[in-house]
Amino acid sequence: MSPVRTPPRVLTILGATGTIGVNTLDVVARHPGRFEVFALTGATQVERMVEQCRVHRPRIAVMSEPAAAAALHQRLLAEKLPVEVRSGADALTEVATAPEIDTVMAAIVGAAGLPATLAAAHAGKRILLANKETLVVSGQLFMDAIAASGAELLPIDSEHNAIFQSLPRDFRGDLQQAGVNALWLTASGGPFRTLSAEAIASATPAQAIAHPNWVMGKKISVDSASLMNKGLEVIEARWLFNAQPGQIRVLVHPQSIVHSMVEYIDGSVLAQLGTPDMRTPIAYALGFPERIAAGVSALELMGRQLSFEAPDTARFPCLQLAFDALAAGGNAAAVLNAANEVAVERFLAGAVPFSQIAASIAHALEALAGGAATTLDDLLEADRQARRVTTTYLETVRA
Ligand code: NDP
Ligand code: MG
Repeated sequence: MSPVRTPPRVLTILGATGTIGVNTLDVVARHPGRFEVFALTGATQVERMVEQCRVHRPRIAVMSEPAAAAALHQRLLAEKLPVEVRSGADALTEVATAPEIDTVMAAIVGAAGLPATLAAAHAGKRILLANKETLVVSGQLFMDAIAASGAELLPIDSEHNAIFQSLPRDFRGDLQQAGVNALWLTASGGPFRTLSAEAIASATPAQAIAHPNWVMGKKISVDSASLMNKGLEVIEARWLFNAQPGQIRVLVHPQSIVHSMVEYIDGSVLAQLGTPDMRTPIAYALGFPERIAAGVSALELMGRQLSFEAPDTARFPCLQLAFDALAAGGNAAAVLNAANEVAVERFLAGAVPFSQIAASIAHALEALAGGAATTLDDLLEADRQARRVTTTYLETVRA
């Protein structure tokens, strides 16, 4: 009798041209026959998408920007690559819900990833979730959609992937039943960990995106520098693991070796460790429940010092703002997220100083938090209003 061959997992990779997308394709390429790439999506990086189409031969390539889609179409014709090109936000949702696929890597950056990721949840796909902003903006709705459709949710964010690996395999959202006391999210502390408040306030975009341990997209790199990334991850953990805000703790661990921990009532603390390389959580989720090779070098602990310290919310107010938004509930997390996206974009453009990121989020929360947020429309409206309020606020500030 010949051995039974598992059919390949058929993938759509949203945000394929980004750092998570590139790492995902790297792991996929290490396992010929195990995965089939149905669709890849990007926004602006045409040449990178051409290269990905050449190597991975997807059936569909989406560029959310129409001009980039037109350019991609021309390039693929010239290269005689038989890939269908689509464009626009609706096309992202189409490829995330296509009946041909079973798995979606959700790796678009920002709330722009929400509609397609939420649609994949409604469609009952296996979702590998990197796009934390989806959970921050629409946590309850997203988790309800997962539960209703029977979709499978596997966290890619390294901290949440570590917690997922450290929870019982049959964990179904009841931390008390699992004997869990607390979830410990580790944070590298980012490039400004040891800087004074004054130095942080006037830091440049180049300094902010120079992360000590991880290679990431620009937006999340700035979030890591402000500790907003950890704030977003606190909210992400609340929804992913059905945790009470008081059960989520943050610990600065500059070496980024311990990726996060679960503290149990008997005093046990389980952690996942590894070299800081996103291919580990990506491979874990791609292969789940099997372990597959990720191309990551083995962790060398001999002679290493691991240290832990408390986060400083006075120098990094964004972390406290995220805890506050989580406590406030309703539309607050959506407002926080949108204000942060606008402020980070203005900061990266050199238009406003680093200190204005926290200031403009605080301003938006003061102006808008407290509104209802039970439907997707409520949340998208909160997102739009926060973008408007923050844009106006930042026009009064000069870099
Ligand atoms: P990148 O900026 O490197 O990539 C973002 C991807 O999204 C690119 O493919 C980009 O296209 C695409 N994109 C950007 N804007 C839009 C839009 N408006 N509509 C559709 N697509 C768009 O980000 P990362 O890969 O670093 O991060 C992706 C997500 O994963 C983020 O939510 C981040 O927080 C999360 N994450 C990332 C980690 C990391 O190590 N990088 C770790 C944990 C979580 P193009 O480049 O073609 O313009
Ligand atoms: Mg993370």
